[in-house]
Amino acid sequence: MLIMVNNTDIKSKIELLKSGELTCVDNAKSFLAEIEKNNSKFNIVLEKSNNVLEIAADLDKKRENGDNLGKLFGLCFLVKSNISVTDMIVSCASKTLENYKGSFDADVIKNIVAEGGIILGNVNNDEFANGASGETSAFGATDNPFSVGRVPGGSSSGSAAAVAADFCDISLGSDTGGSIRNPASHCNVVGVKPSFGRVSRYGLVDLSMSLDQIGPFSKDVYGSALCMEVISGLSSNDATTFDRDILSYVEKKESFKPKFGIIKEFVDMISDNEISQVFNSNIEKLKTEGYEVVEVSVNNIELAVQAYYPIVYAEFYSGTRKFDGVKYGEKIEDTAGEEVLRRIYGGQAITQSEFDGAYYKKALKVKEMIAEEFSKAFENVDCILTPVTPMLPHKIGSDVSVEAMYAYDAFTTPLNLAGVCGGVVNGAVIDYDGDKVAVGIQVISDKFCEDKMFSGMRIIETLNK
Ligand code: GLN
Repeated sequence: MLIMVNNTDIKSKIELLKSGELTCVDNAKSFLAEIEKNNSKFNIVLEKSNNVLEIAADLDKKRENGDNLGKLFGLCFLVKSNISVTDMIVSCASKTLENYKGSFDADVIKNIVAEGGIILGNVNNDEFANGASGETSAFGATDNPFSVGRVPGGSSSGSAAAVAADFCDISLGSDTGGSIRNPASHCNVVGVKPSFGRVSRYGLVDLSMSLDQIGPFSKDVYGSALCMEVISGLSSNDATTFDRDILSYVEKKESFKPKFGIIKEFVDMISDNEISQVFNSNIEKLKTEGYEVVEVSVNNIELAVQAYYPIVYAEFYSGTRKFDGVKYGEKIEDTAGEEVLRRIYGGQAITQSEFDGAYYKKALKVKEMIAEEFSKAFENVDCILTPVTPMLPHKIGSDVSVEAMYAYDAFTTPLNLAGVCGGVVNGAVIDYDGDKVAVGIQVISDKFCEDKMFSGMRIIETLNK
């Protein structure tokens, strides 16, 4: 029974939970048992909630009483450690906040709990979400359960690995430049970065407030779509959220056949042979299935990484001024790791008054240009497809230069700059250097068009079943 529970697709799982064939207590117990058995192997979970089984038992009682059951009834969640949950340590995987307890639930947590979701605990990540491999956590690197010994990707390393390791049904991560999509690709799971302003960031410790979004991971597109229906929407706590319709993301609209685009400017940037082959074979399969695939142009997209980092450095520097050793936790300059310090001192340098914001302003100009280019491209197509990362997951601890780590985000940062949404689905599993390695496909849709994005993601998911 325990094995079966963890391998059930989310749509069937919800039906089992709502009918009582599977109790919430048994669902939670099966995940807690997996965590107990395998967490020391992968270094995923940082802290477990201590009242999980009581909450699950209360949910079971609700069902027995015939009460209204929520959309996420009995599903179990793990959460990145930069999202505030009452009474749990919001460490951001840093020594700076290792004793800092959350005093409130982030909006996303409130929404999940209100719909019957169970929070099992929180998970590891790159320190303060700075990173692309899951190796910069102050609490050690997370391993990739799908390709053991290789990086799970980052910065939401633990969130993607948790789903891959069968530690939960759905997890939450945050994505500033690729941190949900890159680990989703490496861990062979689904991951979604919502449009900017779609999901409240209230309760998220920000990396870069003009780019961050919280989003879900799950084994199938259905799970992420269902979670997005619950966490999306206007919040009075976050002035960047919008009052836009939240359509049914789980619903399949058979009559809607998205028109796909591929970005002309990216073709030359796919330098890895294996990644390029997986991408092209997915495009061929789509065409064989009768989908229209056309080239679109997004000028200046190759400047995205160069614009992304000055914005992140400046906003991260400003955001971390509150970690002065008085208000929250320890002084960040005394306790944080190398990558965090690089950004703090870099951010301090480029925001000096002598420069009059020159670097930041220039980067914002590129951001605007890329956003306009995406708007134009979406006049002609519903979904744009790209690879997710330029590299396959390396072995944990390999020497990768700072430049190569920054270039990891070439295909993902443009979406954050433009504010559009993007989700990742597996495109193929390949043999690479003696290991089984997953290669994802990124499906991009225009701002607040998550419904189209999920349609595109479902099509790729079905192609590769
Ligand atoms: N790798 C990128 C960075 O280190 C993205 C991080 C993220 O999306 N949180 O900034």
